[in-house]
Parts: sequence; structure tokens; C-alpha cells
Amino acid sequence: MDIEQFIQDIPHLSFQQRRMLKEQAQDLALWQIPGKSISTLWPSDYDRTNKNEVRRIFRTFMSEMDEIRRTPVDYSSFNPEYDFRAGGMRINTDFLSPDRIMGRCPCPKDGEQTRCCNLKTLDAVQQCAFACAYCSIQSFYSQNEIRVLSDLRQHLETMNLEEGTWHIGTGQSSDSLLLGDDYGTLSALASFARLHPDVVVELKTKSARTDWINMDLPRNIVSTWSLNAETPASKEEHLTASPKARIAAAKACAESGHLVGFHIHPMILFKGWENEYKSIVMSLCDNINPENVVMIGIGTLTFTKQNLRALRESGRPTRVTQMPLAPIAGKFSYDLETKRRMFSHVYSCFPKDWKDKVFFYLCMEDPSLWEPCLGRSYACNVDFESDMKDHYLKKILEQTHS
Ligand code: SF4
Repeated sequence: MDIEQFIQDIPHLSFQQRRMLKEQAQDLALWQIPGKSISTLWPSDYDRTNKNEVRRIFRTFMSEMDEIRRTPVDYSSFNPEYDFRAGGMRINTDFLSPDRIMGRCPCPKDGEQTRCCNLKTLDAVQQCAFACAYCSIQSFYSQNEIRVLSDLRQHLETMNLEEGTWHIGTGQSSDSLLLGDDYGTLSALASFARLHPDVVVELKTKSARTDWINMDLPRNIVSTWSLNAETPASKEEHLTASPKARIAAAKACAESGHLVGFHIHPMILFKGWENEYKSIVMSLCDNINPENVVMIGIGTLTFTKQNLRALRESGRPTRVTQMPLAPIAGKFSYDLETKRRMFSHVYSCFPKDWKDKVFFYLCMEDPSLWEPCLGRSYACNVDFESDMKDHYLKKILEQTHS
């Protein structure tokens, strides 16, 4: 159905109302909820000459949409037939590093709207072959090409680190372990980490590759896995390894003597979420020794205006935007009460020894959520960053001497 035309044909709407209606209609098209589209929710028979009647229908439509957004996603009716990696993916290894490959995490720079750990980012590989529905990296780079920096090692050897840099993540421009060491990326990062023993390099992945675990990696490289409940992982994290396979890879990595970490992120409110998140935590605790775990970050879906626009225009089926899109810290997410329920639930599923031995944190979240969800909080970002640093370095030191 032509959404633009459908909305164009509705009389008496303001420019703003047409824009809102278009966004709602695009979201409905992505969600593919049986029987729910702009043409089924907007009545076909109404008095087109009556402006008040059109306004009433608009209000009713918007409140029906609010209701759908507030209802946990039912993934049982979401089985899209779609090629999420149409056109394939080629690897470009001739790519030279641009002047700047370091950045910072996407928390707002000014003010303390989110509790931020001041993570620095390193774009060692750019673009990803996985196809998570909520991923903003997908739209940053060319769709069908992964760029591997061919001069990464030299670039890192000569790079000046910004003062105060102590932890750097490589998972903000690609999946850190998708390519293993096939193109020398891990070897380059290992030599960089040896050069900077006080800097923690965090790899982040949704892969199950383990062929790199026997590499001689320094202790200050921490491999982390993003985990999700089975249903959203299978419905929204396309082409990635299953959460169980990710845990199995993390287990192999930890048993080889490396430190590991996890991100239960992005949590999604779907039908059955409580049991499924509990079961992923149980599976994690059954397989991994908390002594080997540096950190667990917890977070949820957060979209910028640009992310939402890109998703809507992509036409890729997803239900990740079937949520209230409450405005928080310049982005759109769940409201604070929903976040409180989700984060405190997942934290409550961990046994005490995990809570004692592992550094838990909320990733890019409102400072007011810390106390009710984790039972602790920080007065400012500097305190959070400093506590995180102490915990990470202590764990690395313990591991070095064990
Ligand atoms: S694994 Fe990470 S980088 Fe790759 S598509 Fe998913 S969210 Fe994006």
C-alpha cells in the first residue's frame, strides 16, 4: 500500500498531523501485526467534509497506537520473510585508517542526563555482517562492505591517546570478533594493549567464534558478549549466533584464561520477557565462573531521531520500535518505570556471589534508575567512571596473579 498516497487522501489534516500519521503508518508496516495497518485502523467510511470528524478519528487512531506501543511485543506472530543481508557483504582490506579512528560513546556530552562511563571508541573495523534490527552502525557505512583497516597496527603504534583514556571499546563500529584475527585486527589490538598496559581494550560480540582464543592476548583485553533473551535474539538479531552459542563461546574463552564480560542489552519488553531473561541469566550462571567476569552492563533500546528515520525508510520488518518511544535525554526509549521493572528484574535473577564479584552497571541510563535497580548509585559520572576503573583493574590484576 502507498502510505504517502493514503495520507494525502485524508482531508483537513495539518502538516504536523500528516507527518505524525506517516511515522505511525511506517511503524505499523514494519511491525507486520496481523490486521493492523493504517488502512485497517483508519476508517474507510466517514464524513470527509467534516473537519471535526477527521480530528476525532485522528485522536482515536493515535490512542490506539499508544495502546499497541504500551503492549509487550508478541513475537509469536512475527515471522518476516526478508533477506536481511541482500546483496551479500564483501570485505575491503585495502582501506587505510582515516586521521581519526577514536571517538567516544554516544551519551550526551553535556550535563549528566545519563550516567556515563566515558568509554572511548576505536573504529578498527567498520560495518558489520550481522543485521540486528536496532543497529545504528548499519546505516553509518556502505551497506555491503566491511572495511578492515589495513594499517591498524602502525596507526595504533603512533596514535596519541587523549589524556584520561583508560578503556576503549571496538564494538561501536562493528562486531569486534566477527572476523576473529583473519585480517590481523586482534593481533594489532594485542600489541596496542601491550603498549598501554593501563588501558582496558573491550571487544564486544554476538558471534560464537572461538578460533582466536589460543592467541597470546594481554590481560587488559577483555572479550564481552552481548546477550539477549532467546526470542528477541532470534527475531531481531539476524545472522548472529544464538545466545546459548554466545555463552558457550564465552565459556571456552574464560576457560582458556581470558577475562570476559557481558552486556544484557538491549533488553526488549515482549510477551514472556521475565521468564526468558531469567533463563538467559541462569544459563550464564550455570556456565561461567564469576571470577572470570569483569563486568555486566544492562541496557535497553534507545533510538535517535535519525535512527528512527533510517529504520522507517529501510522498510526492514522489525518490532523493535513497537514501544512507547518516550523522549529521554534527547533520545527515544521506554519510560523510566518500564526500565526500572526490566533492569531490576534481570539484576534480581543473579545470585549473590555474582553481585559480589562482578561489576554491574546500567549502560547510558538515567541516574535515577541506579538505586532502585542495582541498589547503589553515584553522585556524578566521574565517580561512576572511577569506580568502574578500580573494579576492572583490580580484576585484571587478580587474574594476572592467579
Ligand atoms: S552485532 Fe553489533 S554491530 Fe553487528 S549488526 Fe548487531 S548491533 Fe550492529
